[in-house]
Amino acid sequence: MASQTGSIVQQSLNALLEDKSFLQNLQDDAREQAFTSLAAILSTPNHVHKSFLRVPLDSGKVVRVPSFRVQHNDTLGPYKGGIRFHESVNEDEVVNLAALMTLKNALHEVPFGGGKGGVVINPREFSVKELHSICKKYVQYFSDILGPDKDIPAPDVGTGDREMDWMMAEYKSIRPGKPYRGSFTGKSVVNGGSLGRREATGKGVFFTLRYMLHDFLKENSKWLSGNDNIFGKTALSVANRPLKIAVQGFGNVGSVAALEAYQCTYLQNKVVAVSDRNVTLYNSEGLNIPALVSFTSKNGGDLPTTVEQLAECDVKADIEDRDEVLYLDVDVLILAALEDQVHKDNVQQVKAPVIVEGANAPITGEADTYLSKKGVIIVPDILANAGGVIVSYFEWLQGRETQFYSEQEVFKLLFDKMKVTMDTILPQFFGDPFPLRQNCYIHAVMKLSTILYRQGKLY
Ligand code: GLU
Repeated sequence: MASQTGSIVQQSLNALLEDKSFLQNLQDDAREQAFTSLAAILSTPNHVHKSFLRVPLDSGKVVRVPSFRVQHNDTLGPYKGGIRFHESVNEDEVVNLAALMTLKNALHEVPFGGGKGGVVINPREFSVKELHSICKKYVQYFSDILGPDKDIPAPDVGTGDREMDWMMAEYKSIRPGKPYRGSFTGKSVVNGGSLGRREATGKGVFFTLRYMLHDFLKENSKWLSGNDNIFGKTALSVANRPLKIAVQGFGNVGSVAALEAYQCTYLQNKVVAVSDRNVTLYNSEGLNIPALVSFTSKNGGDLPTTVEQLAECDVKADIEDRDEVLYLDVDVLILAALEDQVHKDNVQQVKAPVIVEGANAPITGEADTYLSKKGVIIVPDILANAGGVIVSYFEWLQGRETQFYSEQEVFKLLFDKMKVTMDTILPQFFGDPFPLRQNCYIHAVMKLSTILYRQGKLY
């Protein structure tokens, strides 16, 4: 469960009230009142839609599958966010993740609100035909509330371009003659998806890390050595040397981030460990990531788990326990699996001074506080994994314009956008004692509050 999202929104709202620049033109009473209505807006979703999809199985049986679509806030534009297929999805989690999308879009100036969907299944237990049927039913049940100008889903945990293609096709047949291309993003390229969308989240994760620990530090190391910021000290301790990187999760986000790190030869980083639901693979000299990517693409997404399989793909590695990846002596740990991976019971074993959240909410609130007090830099989901929704926005635009960008153009637009956000946030972060997550949340909430105030909605 994405447990820390709600409390961080609360913490950020509190910090916002202390921030003198928040609605500074208002008198104390009016300011407090505006704040109270802002808090009410952001701490509650606009709509929670729930349905039990009736799905026929191959066996002839029919099952009811619980499913959700949460529309958190649409101040900045149509609701936007993925649909996850996972057996532990629940309403609270989807509400929290929808709120996270509102803030993520606000932080990166993406003109969308926040939404999220969930279907309570383990997709591995269903046949392709059954999954197709689940996707069609989801659209049938929720078609009234979805649409290119209302609410635009995308892939998330357990879904990908195949599911988005099926869903868009169903949406099109339910609403003949209406615009449909922008109803779903993360579609396959042949079906109107954007080049680069599949890699966008993982590439954005590595770009964020590289920009912060290399480009930004190079420009600002004098300033950072002069100030006494605890996080600045951590950054300087790993700056200007090749980094040892471990990646938890080798799916769409983790494998791409690992490959980016491997291919970024001018920095001489080493990806020393990767993991998935079965195993951690470790090699202190660095792993052959392209060989592992090609192995997983032929083996249902799973990393090699035996000496024979490692030999088969010509990878030298020690085979360790699945969770070992979290506790290694590395410079950077990229968490690209699921939520709540680092929690109060294992946080003391985590050694990495820099942690990047490729997944949404992989660190619980308690663990986050513990690590931040120690000076560990946590590059939060809202900042690091926004590549997916940013390129979703480009996909939506391309669908409108019916004109498509090259892969190079997409990545340039993506990195330019993430750079703008980081150039705003990083000087603030290294200049004050708040963790990066809180800085990002304050910035996003500030943006939303200014707009809501201008629209006359804070009263
Ligand atoms: N599911 C992704 C996220 O959590 C992408 C959402 C989107 O592209 O709309 O950011």
